[in-house]
Amino acid sequence: MTVDPRDAGRRCSSCGHVEKANRRTQARFRCRACGYELDADLNAAENIRWRADVNQPIVVCRPGGLEAEPQAYTL
Ligand SMILES: [Zn+2]
Repeated sequence: MTVDPRDAGRRCSSCGHVEKANRRTQARFRCRACGYELDADLNAAENIRWRADVNQPIVVCRPGGLEAEPQAYTL
């Protein structure tokens, strides 16, 4: 699941709903789906942090020593 960076200002950081109308004004965000409301900049910051978490690959090292290739899984 990916989010366009341009949608960071439109995505609800509470429920994930993306809608242009979520962004009521330049400064204020209010989710049309769940009613979550906060400062638009804070909401965008939450979304960007959420993206970073999701895109972070989990590296698993196999207990096979140096010959084992680490495998990366993307959620
Ligand atoms: Zn919402």
